[in-house]
Amino acid sequence: MAVDMKFFEELESRIPKGKVRTRFAPSPTGYMHVGNLRTALYTWLIARNAGGTFILRIEDTDQGRLVEGATEVIYRTMAECGLTHDEGPDVGGPVGPYIQTERRPLYKKFAELLVEKGAAYYCFCEKAESEEDSGEFNRGDDPCRDMSPEEVAANLAAGKPYVIRQRIPHEGSTTFHDISFGDITVENKELDDQVLLKRDGLPTYNFANVIDDHLMGITHVVRGSEYLSSAPKYNLLYEGFGWDIPTYVHCSPVMRDAQNKMSKRHGDPSYEDLKALGYITPAILNYVALLGWSPRGDIAEQEIFSLEELARAFDIAGISKSPAIFDIEKLTYFNASYLRAMDPAEFAKLAEPFIRQGVKGEQYDAAQIAGLLQARCEKLTEIPEKVDFFDTLPEYDKELFTNKKSKTNDEVSLAMLEATLPVLESLDRWEQEAIHDALIALAEKLEVKNATLMWPLRIAIAGKAVTPGGAVELCHILGRDEVVRRVKIGMDKLK
Ligand code: GLU
Repeated sequence: MAVDMKFFEELESRIPKGKVRTRFAPSPTGYMHVGNLRTALYTWLIARNAGGTFILRIEDTDQGRLVEGATEVIYRTMAECGLTHDEGPDVGGPVGPYIQTERRPLYKKFAELLVEKGAAYYCFCEKAESEEDSGEFNRGDDPCRDMSPEEVAANLAAGKPYVIRQRIPHEGSTTFHDISFGDITVENKELDDQVLLKRDGLPTYNFANVIDDHLMGITHVVRGSEYLSSAPKYNLLYEGFGWDIPTYVHCSPVMRDAQNKMSKRHGDPSYEDLKALGYITPAILNYVALLGWSPRGDIAEQEIFSLEELARAFDIAGISKSPAIFDIEKLTYFNASYLRAMDPAEFAKLAEPFIRQGVKGEQYDAAQIAGLLQARCEKLTEIPEKVDFFDTLPEYDKELFTNKKSKTNDEVSLAMLEATLPVLESLDRWEQEAIHDALIALAEKLEVKNATLMWPLRIAIAGKAVTPGGAVELCHILGRDEVVRRVKIGMDKLK
């Protein structure tokens, strides 16, 4: 059968050359795994570091796994993370379409081309597709592998259903190179004549992936190490076509602990889950970048990296082949650092919805409360519970007034509140500085430590031992009337 080379030549002529081109090729599952996010990030970083092109390709060949809205999750996550793509389904590009199901007509032609080149063959055997997919059959006995061209032509003419299989040499071995895993050699006899084109004319995942990577001019294939075992067959496909093999960068899994991979099914958080848990995107990205990649040289000790800094610093040689363990405590540390370093106005904007979950009273200014929280908050989700006392003074035990370090007990606390009340009631300006100065002057007058005066006041107005901000800040935000009311309640408790 003659193949029309023009078709292939036209596709080849569209492939951009001479620049690094990487692609993130997610399957639309409906969420973004931490491991997938890391793959996306590394892939993006390799392209950006080299001034290359970053491509988004949607791998939706496996129809069984289609989830509604899943593609949107991918777009949204990439955009939120700042992992902008130069080519993709929504922005187009020279080697589209960028959605695998829209590329269907291509694969059959390439499978036929590979037959022509001798690296694949028609197989008319009746095997269940599931057997073929899992590779669980004895290819050694496959009678179609050595069928004469005449017999093949006759079968095709008779309309016999067929699959196209990869013809793996029986002898020898195949070696492929991976950036972090080095050279890996497998005996060809260990590899099965995998199906490339199914009976329905659709490609298998492994075939579509290779065709797409080649036709999109991908120079660096970055993906999870679960694909390592397929890499020799991929290599043989590239060789069969006479194409250049891309640089492989297989990334070890992100682990929950020493034994187990992180898995959504076992309750490990996805990117979306992490956000819902109060982690912010730049902190997640920063942490994820360091799960399996280490900066070297001058920046070997640096931990906090913006995306731009990562793009400058990233090198594939820094990717480790040992699996990294996801440590939520460490992520929390990154998150807290990011929150603290944020511009206060930006933090206030981010914190406001969380503050409003805890504080409904509009008289309390969310931006002022945010000011108290910024240095004292590891995750945004902690906020509502930290600030709920603004709306309603909680029921509290008078034990809280006793604090050894502040030298307070019931008696001392009552005395302090009794002295404080008239000072606050008669203060002419309800401003933070004025409140502060008046209270410090009072402590001096009473010849007590500042803490001895401040502790009971803070307990009385907040009703809890741990608060964001001290007595002065809380008084200022609560307003005079409310402070006076709460101080009186405290006094009643202590009497
Ligand atoms: N679609 C594959 C996945 O989501 C990606 C495989 C690859 O990058 O080669 O796991």
